[in-house]
Amino acid sequence: MHELNVIKKPWREDHLRIALVYPNVYSAMAGLTIQTLYNVWNICPNVICERFFMPSKKEIKAFKYQNFSPNYDTSTGPARFHPTLRSIENKMPLSKFDIIAFSISYELDFPNVLWMLDNCHIPIFRSDRISKKNGEEKEESDEVIVNEEQNFPIIMAGGPVIRSNPLPLESFLDAAFIGEIEPVNDLMINSWFNSVNSESLHTYSQIKRNFLQTLQNTPGFWIPQIYNLTNHGEVERVYVKNLDDFPHPIKQIIPKVKSPEKYPLPFGEAFYVEINRGCPHFCRFCMTGGQLKPFRNRSLEGLKKIIILGIENSEVKKVVLIGSSVTDHPKFRELIIFLIDQKVEFSIPSIRIETLTEELASLLVKGGMRTVAFAPETGTDSLRLKINKKISNAKILNGAKLLLEAGIPNVKLYLLYGLPFETEEDIDAIPKLVKQIAALGFGKQGVRLSINPFIPKAHTPFESYIDNFADPNLIILKEKLKRIYSPLKGDKQIKFETLSVEEAYIQTLLALGGKEMSALILKCYQTGYKIKKWYQMIRKEHLGKEEYIIKFFQDMKENSFGNHEWNFINQKLSHKILEKEWDKTKKFSTK
Ligand code: SF4
Repeated sequence: MHELNVIKKPWREDHLRIALVYPNVYSAMAGLTIQTLYNVWNICPNVICERFFMPSKKEIKAFKYQNFSPNYDTSTGPARFHPTLRSIENKMPLSKFDIIAFSISYELDFPNVLWMLDNCHIPIFRSDRISKKNGEEKEESDEVIVNEEQNFPIIMAGGPVIRSNPLPLESFLDAAFIGEIEPVNDLMINSWFNSVNSESLHTYSQIKRNFLQTLQNTPGFWIPQIYNLTNHGEVERVYVKNLDDFPHPIKQIIPKVKSPEKYPLPFGEAFYVEINRGCPHFCRFCMTGGQLKPFRNRSLEGLKKIIILGIENSEVKKVVLIGSSVTDHPKFRELIIFLIDQKVEFSIPSIRIETLTEELASLLVKGGMRTVAFAPETGTDSLRLKINKKISNAKILNGAKLLLEAGIPNVKLYLLYGLPFETEEDIDAIPKLVKQIAALGFGKQGVRLSINPFIPKAHTPFESYIDNFADPNLIILKEKLKRIYSPLKGDKQIKFETLSVEEAYIQTLLALGGKEMSALILKCYQTGYKIKKWYQMIRKEHLGKEEYIIKFFQDMKENSFGNHEWNFINQKLSHKILEKEWDKTKKFSTK
């Protein structure tokens, strides 16, 4: 595969070398996060940033183990894989970088983090990377300790799941970053070079130690080795106040993919434009509504310049508009008219269906869209009110009709089940609504469903709603899914995709768990990459022996807002607000 706009700088020891790692397959290039970080770091003349992705499952099988120890005993040496994963740019292994920065979007990628470190012979536990004095590991000290003999890179992580709750990875990381890097990036880079240039620091380990100690005082950074949860107060989420103040990636990497089945990119070759961050709405199940506050928009003038320059530099004819709430941009209509005038095709990952008008629907068609995605979330107006999504079925049906009449042949619907206070009527209403949409006249597989179990996330009003998982047999969810699926089975207009309930169960544990989850992540990694195997392993190892996970869910339910371990992260969203939102749902549900 060939890529356009790759930045390959000469490899220099006196530069800060950052490995930008996405612990999943290459299709992450079909997004803006990797492009943004690659740009933010490579723009600095004395920084080299190179990318790593996880090999596919098939490729992993081809990697051979040598000396693999299932209990990960460091005295016999870590697992040895061959060949070692190399960066895309200079073909360097992870161990040659100063910082390994993982960008993590999904809890089930945690075991991949271990695979990638292990593959490059970097001890996966932080305690195995730090020196041991008098035979004792120096954890929870006021001082950072690093191994004097072996110069392992600094292992960092950021991304939505880390922002929400980094605790499950605590045992593996040297640093976690909470929020958006742009406002503190210069501080981070300067801290590195101040440490490197300090006359009192002589060894690489001293430089790393000093760097981590400085980061602990830099907004957004959490250094688990020196952070004492009881004494150190909070780690505040960092965010960009004005998006126009920070550069947008212009020379984006464009994969020229010859075999799309090997490197599937959902939007094909395209230039990605971030039009906003955050969301003006506050759906009670959603991380974005609360954790990305405030809602921020790039200016229309700024966006026009980015698009013109981006198209010039990327040899593409298509633009993808990125944001959690693209259609809420105050100049959305003007923006898409501008794209149509420029003869640029565009795509939007999803729209707010209730804002759709006849004119907007025809503009989407003129922009080349053939599938439009939107999120009814559930089947009844009343449950939608409980989750704070104020859209009616009438508006949804009207929007779907407008799309069809304008010439959009396919719609994609995002739906959830297992939400708090959901009744049998709410469940039965899901297939009913889907059939009503299909009956408007969409063609074969013209109504595509992505229907998933609700997964509670930290720092949301529904964070403690774990009732679906209290029974490890997951009977409630299985029955609900059957009830939704049965009336739709065999319907040729409908395409159905869902996350397995077992996957949702594991994801919930990793989204809400603490440091103790490291043992589970390690076991998942060692067990291979099959969800059913992980699920059975959890039940056998944890439930069978000590009923550990049943207790975990009980504790989660009993803990009140503000009293969870993850509350050391300050999302700038008071737990009183979360509690108030939860109470509103309860009140509404008992009327
Ligand atoms: S579900 Fe969508 S509309 Fe609701 S808060 Fe999240 S991003 Fe915003």
